[in-house]
Order: sequence, then C-alpha cells, then structure tokens
Amino acid sequence: MIEALQLRDIELIYPTRRGTIQALSNVNLSVREGEFVAILGPSGCGKSTLLKLAAGLLPASGGQIILGGHPLSGPGKQTGVVFQKPNLLPWKTVLENVLLPARTLGLAIAPARLRAYQMLELVGLAEFAANYPFELSGGMQQRVGIARMLLHDPQLLLMDEPFAALDALSRETLMLELQRIWEQQRKSVLFITHSIQEAVFLADRVLVMSPRPGTLVEDLTIPLPRPRTLETLAAQDFMQLCQHLRSHFTHA
Ligand code: ADP
Repeated sequence: MIEALQLRDIELIYPTRRGTIQALSNVNLSVREGEFVAILGPSGCGKSTLLKLAAGLLPASGGQIILGGHPLSGPGKQTGVVFQKPNLLPWKTVLENVLLPARTLGLAIAPARLRAYQMLELVGLAEFAANYPFELSGGMQQRVGIARMLLHDPQLLLMDEPFAALDALSRETLMLELQRIWEQQRKSVLFITHSIQEAVFLADRVLVMSPRPGTLVEDLTIPLPRPRTLETLAAQDFMQLCQHLRSHFTHA
C-alpha cells in the first residue's frame, strides 16, 4: 500500500524563556492512502504539536516528514485541516466561510464556489449556505469547518479533536457523519483525539501516545466491520478494544 504521510524519527523541542520543552521524541508513524488513523493520548502529550508538524505549520527539530512521497516543505494543497473550533468569520455567510481559503490556495473562484456548495451538500448544510454562523448550532458550525477543509479536495485530512467542544449527542452524530463522508471520499485521515470511543469507532488503526515527551507506544488495528453504527458502541468487541486502550491511561 502507498503511504500518504510518513513521520520518521521526529523530535520537537519548544524553546521557552525558562529553558526548552521536549514535546515529541522519536515519533515514527505512517498513514496509508485511504486509511483512517487516530492518535490517542493524554492532554499535553504533544498531539496538537504532531498535527501542526504534519500540516507544515511548524518545523520539526529533527527527523523527516514525507507527504505523498515528497519531503514536506510547508503548508500546501495536499492537506486539509480542522481544529477543535471551526474559527468561522461571523460577518460572512456559511458559503463564504467555506470559500475562505480559495484565494490563498489560488483556486479559480467560479469552480470553487460550486465545489463549496457541493461540500455543504455533503455535510447536510446546503440549505444554510446563505445563513450566518451565529444561526447554526456548534455541531453545524463544525460541519462548515469540515466542508471548508474539503474545498480544495486534499488527499490528506488532518483533524485535531474536531468534536471536543461539542455535547455528547452532537459528538455521536458527527462521528457517524464523518464516517459517511470518509467512506464516500476515501481520503487519508490523521485524527487526533483524547476520546477512546471516538478513536475506536472511527479508525482503522489507533496509535497511542505516551505522556510528554510524546512518543508512540502502541499501534492497534481495529478490525471492526464497516460501516460502524450506534449499535457498534455497545458491541462486545468494541468494548474490549476500548478496555484494552484504557489500560494505557489507568495506573492502579
Ligand atoms: P496536546 O495536544 O496533546 O494536549 P500539545 O501538543 O498542545 O499537547 O503540547 C505538548 C507540550 O508542549 C505541552 O507540554 C505544551 O505545554 C507544550 N507546548 C505546546 N505549544 C508550545 C509552545 N508554543 N511553546 C512552548 N511549549 C509549548
């Protein structure tokens, strides 16, 4: 299988006024084409740092990042990113918000407009295209963020705890939505979360990170059949996988 993303021997050290903080140490991972990989780890272990590195938003202190077969040299068109908050501009409509990156990415405006509308259809928000962000719920706003991430048809999706700020029911709905979108679009995904359930439900593989300096301590394949449904959450094998992963974070 072809690798969409590879991180090799990655080190990340933040310089601070009171010395240095080693956020990541010896991180090696790969995401294959079309694969959904979740990274699970405790708060502060370096998950967001790792995602910023993969997005080309932060240079590594050591090691190599290979994106689509080439060394990564900065933010580019191959990746789409969503963060915990969708950061929508309140004075722009939903459609305009999805279109925001078009100029930076150098997209021709007419086809980008059509694509933005199609992506809003994909996330179930076409009828809200002319609304403003304040008229949408938190879950709907995050879906606008997902539509925006897909605007330029990136090969690799980088998602940093995209559902963390939502209530439990919206989180469940969006998990199902994201699975549907991923099955339709077959992108490669690197999904950061501190929710064991979310990781097991969504991913083909779950990578577990240790506390800081973050490094990968397990690479667990999730063999659950797809599409996964709300019944999956109560299935014996789902719960066993969650239980196994939980053992990394509970210390008797
Ligand atoms: P996570 O996403 O797993 O919560 P982060 O990647 O945000 O973790 O942070 C990892 C570690 O690096 C934390 O100890 C955090 O305090 C530190 N850190 C993150 N960003 C910076 C920064 N810009 N400068 C200094 N330290 C930072």
